[in-house]
Amino acid sequence: MSYIICENHGGNIGSLVSPEVLQWVIKLKPFQDKVRMIFIQDNNDNRYCYYVDEEFYNEFSNKAEVDLTIPLRLDDDIAFELSLELVPVCPKCLHEWLEN
Ligand SMILES: [Zn+2]
Repeated sequence: MSYIICENHGGNIGSLVSPEVLQWVIKLKPFQDKVRMIFIQDNNDNRYCYYVDEEFYNEFSNKAEVDLTIPLRLDDDIAFELSLELVPVCPKCLHEWLEN
């Protein structure tokens, strides 16, 4: 997790997205039809979701040989590897973009 400072929303804990989704959010491009969600579940059964583009989703599932329709465990190596390829975005900007 990383702290992120947004021009519009100030400081927040960043949400993780793929680099391509970050560009879409920054430019407010409507690409929601190509957005996929990857679910992560922690030991308390809380679920988180990372937004990624379709290409990233397919590449990562092939490379890691993992079925991303099933939530990844947060303490799993694959979830860690995934987090290394993602970038933080302001959660409020992400939310606004998703609602558009
Ligand atoms: Zn923001």
